[in-house]
Amino acid sequence: MNKNFINGRWVDASDKAIYKHYAPADLTQITGSWPKSTVADVQHAIETAKEAFKSWRKLTVYQRAEYLRKALSLMQQRIEQIAAVITAENGKTLNESRGEIASAIKEMDYQINEGIRLGGEIMPSERDGVLAYGIRVPLGVVAVISPWNFPFNVPCRKVTPALITGNTCILKPANLTPGVGAAFVKLFDDAGLPAGVLNFLTGSGAVIGQALVENPAIKAITFTGSTEVGMGINKAAADNLTRTQLEMGGKNPLVVLADADLEIAADSAVLAVFACAGQWCTSTSRAVVEEPVYDRFIEMVLDRVKKIKVGKGTDSATTMGPVCGKSQLEDVLDCIEKGKAEGANLVIGGKQIKDKDLANGCFIEPTVFTNVTPRMFIAQEEIFGPVLSVIKAKDFDDAVDIANNVKFGLSSSIYTNDLQKALTFVEKTDVGLTHVNIPTAVKEPQLSFGGVKLSGCGIPEAGHTGVEFFTEHKVAYIKYR
Ligand code: NAP
Ligand code: MG
Repeated sequence: MNKNFINGRWVDASDKAIYKHYAPADLTQITGSWPKSTVADVQHAIETAKEAFKSWRKLTVYQRAEYLRKALSLMQQRIEQIAAVITAENGKTLNESRGEIASAIKEMDYQINEGIRLGGEIMPSERDGVLAYGIRVPLGVVAVISPWNFPFNVPCRKVTPALITGNTCILKPANLTPGVGAAFVKLFDDAGLPAGVLNFLTGSGAVIGQALVENPAIKAITFTGSTEVGMGINKAAADNLTRTQLEMGGKNPLVVLADADLEIAADSAVLAVFACAGQWCTSTSRAVVEEPVYDRFIEMVLDRVKKIKVGKGTDSATTMGPVCGKSQLEDVLDCIEKGKAEGANLVIGGKQIKDKDLANGCFIEPTVFTNVTPRMFIAQEEIFGPVLSVIKAKDFDDAVDIANNVKFGLSSSIYTNDLQKALTFVEKTDVGLTHVNIPTAVKEPQLSFGGVKLSGCGIPEAGHTGVEFFTEHKVAYIKYR
């Protein structure tokens, strides 16, 4: 099954080229070979999806929902099977992989129902005997470009609302997680989805991703990944007036005020920094701590960090797996060196783990820097690894300024029992989602998910905006008298 999926068939790249995928837990192990797709494959997938759109859009939403519910039911039956693929390709622990699928199940169920609920609006007309109303119609062929950090949940959150509203899709997974993408698509194949409705191409983002986003036949692009690539996609899309939904990087702060319950704050800091080896877009990467509790909070964080068990995701004792691949490993180690060079205090971690069992993998020690100042590189740039920067704030206002003074705006949290400060923080924090006494990474399917500033652009995913992005408004005026 290590193939592309075009027009309902599993096929090789047009020129039969392949690339090899290496396990992040052991780079000497090849997990599989995958098609290195070409621009001609992109063209073929687009033609197929255009053709399939003609009939898919005509089905009632209940008919489309039936296919999606079958795929959802298969997903529920295949949790262990899919979790093993996520752990092999991404590296996260099996429990984290199961958690990712559990989230996908909830989101898919919710988005199918959002599609069924998606209504238009009837308005009173200024004319006598006229019925005036608006309906929602699908866009056509849409491109789904997904990252490696949530390689199952992200495509699911994007493909479900696209299909339920009557669009057809081309999914391009990150080249680091092709097997997870294929396992997702296989659910739809096995559910009997009509040919061409969902197509899947593996290979390089710079080649096939770029060809997809530049093609005028693509009517919408939903993308999750880095800010740099997202900005390039927006530029290419602008030439065709293609709509985009961009979910990108973050530098999420957790603010700890002097009155906070420090046990809870330290627990959630450590969870939100180190889960999935820090590779959540909503991971906490900065702790902004009020002066009176700064030293105590650091001690409590360090006590917890020492208990993290780094290892292979398949080992049940492991609580933190490797980062996802060699270039990720090098990038994170490079950021750590920058932190050291600019004078931050490295209090724990900071190195690649080279113990015999893990020596060939991409394992990094859980890392904490203190005495970080707000303008340092490690206080400003997304590291996307198991690294926390702790910054001291003079008071609440200073903490809010530090939290906001970055180019990103995805998620934030504050830990306090002071209602006035909590609500003032919610008002002032410059992000798409925020939390009080809850970790930065928490999200639920019934609410929209997206960032502001350089973290997000376009109608956000999930909640009711999930389906909104994939439809156009059409209005009708009908004279009946
Ligand atoms: P990435 O390098 O931007 O890649 C994301 C996707 O874009 C991959 O499928 C990639 O393909 C593709 N791509 C690369 N160049 C392209 C181009 N020129 N045209 C079209 N597509 C192209 O990001 P990543 O390294 O996979 O993921 C990590 C980033 O995702 C982090 O910055 C993280 O914060 C962000 N993220 C954000 C959210 C959110 O919701 N805000 C959620 C998760 C992750 P290849 O893999 O083949 O290069
Ligand atoms: Mg990348």
